[in-house]
Amino acid sequence: MVGVAGECILCGKCLEVCPLLAATGREELGPRAKADLCHLLARDEAGLRGADVARLAGLCLGCDRCAAVCSQGVDVPGLVAGLRGAHPDFKGWLWKTWLSHAKTLWPVGSAMAGLVPDSLRPERFGPLLKMLAGLRDGPGLTPALAPFLTPTSFPDTHRGEPMLLFPGCTATHVRQRWLAAAHSLLHGLGVAILPGDFRCCGSGLKSAGFADEARAMALHNLAAWRGAGRPKVAVFCASCLSALRGYTHYIDDPAEAEVWRNSLILLSILAKDTVFVISGAVPDRIAYHRPCHADGAGSDHLLLVAALGDRLVESTDRQCCGFGGVMALGAPELADRVNARCWDQLAGAELVLTGCSACAARLDATAPAGVAVGHWLEVIGQMRR
Ligand code: SF4
Ligand code: SF4
Repeated sequence: MVGVAGECILCGKCLEVCPLLAATGREELGPRAKADLCHLLARDEAGLRGADVARLAGLCLGCDRCAAVCSQGVDVPGLVAGLRGAHPDFKGWLWKTWLSHAKTLWPVGSAMAGLVPDSLRPERFGPLLKMLAGLRDGPGLTPALAPFLTPTSFPDTHRGEPMLLFPGCTATHVRQRWLAAAHSLLHGLGVAILPGDFRCCGSGLKSAGFADEARAMALHNLAAWRGAGRPKVAVFCASCLSALRGYTHYIDDPAEAEVWRNSLILLSILAKDTVFVISGAVPDRIAYHRPCHADGAGSDHLLLVAALGDRLVESTDRQCCGFGGVMALGAPELADRVNARCWDQLAGAELVLTGCSACAARLDATAPAGVAVGHWLEVIGQMRR
C-alpha cells in the first residue's frame, strides 16, 4: 500500500519511540492509534462519542518523538492538538491561564507550591502544584555544587556578531540565573547581544489546542526578529527551539522562512569550542537528561562530555521526563509512570543536568532525596581573568 504524505501506512516506527506506550504497554495510547482515530473522525465524526475522543486526545505527552520518525509526515501531536482545540475543557483552560499569565502567576504560584507538602496537595490540583514546585526560583543547585565549570578561553568564531537571545518563559519569569549565565557566555564569546522583545515560544499553548494564541505569540516573536534586522537567535531550551523552528508555517515567503530557520542556533553550539576548567566541589556522578526535543546532534550533551569527561556517567536517550503539559493535569498517574522510567535510567546520579525548561522543572519536582537537578547553564561560572 502506498501512502500519501500525512497518511499512516501502519509501519509501526512511531511505536518504538513513544514514551507513553513504553511506560504503559497500552497500544491504544500510542501514536498509531491516535492517527487512526483522527482518520476515523475525518470520515465519520458522528461515529465516536465526544467524551471518548476528548479523553484520548488528553493522553499524549506532546513530546513529538513520533512525528520525528514518521516517514509519511503524520503529525500525531498536531492532530491531538486539533482534537484538544475541538474539545475544550477545564484542564485546558487552567493550562492556558497558567501560560498566558506567566509573568504574574509563575513567581508567586511556584513559590507557594513549593511550600505545600505532597501529603497536603489537594487531589485535583496536585499535579499542577507538583509542576509549579519544580519551577520555583530557589537557590538552584546547592552552593557547594554550583557553578563549577569555569570558562578559561572562548573561540573567536562569533566575536562581534550581532544576535538576539531567546530567553523563554522559565528563565524570564522564575529562573533568571539561567539568563545571567547565558548572557555571561555570550559576552565571553564576544557576541553583540541585541535587545529583543520576545514572548513565550507558544509551544505549550499549541500542543494544548490553543492554535490562535500560539500563532499570536509566533507572529509577535517574528516581528521582534524582523525589527532587529533578522539576526541569529541564540536559544538554550530544546522545547523553545523546537517551537521556534515551527514558525516557518507562519511565514509566507519561503526564502524568509529559510532565513528564520537558519538563524536559530543553540547556545551550546555557539559555545562548543569554549575551554572550561572544573573548580570547587563537583559531584562524582553527573547525569545528562536528553530532552525529547533535543537537536539531532545532541549539542548540549557534547558540550558537557567535553567539559566533564568521565564525571558524566549516565545519559537518558529514549526516556521522557513525563512533563506532558496539559496531559499531566488530566492523567497524572500516566505521566508519573513515564517519569519513573526516566529516574530508573538516572539512578545513582547525584546531579542531573538537562537543556530544556520543561524537563528541568519536571525532574526537579520529582527528584529523589539528595539528587540535584538543573539546566546545564547553572553549572557555568564567570570567566576566570
Ligand atoms: S510512523 Fe507514521 S506511518 Fe508509521 S505507524 Fe506511525 S504514524 Fe503510521
Ligand atoms: S507525541 Fe509523544 S506521547 Fe504523544 S503519541 Fe507521539 S510519541 Fe507518544
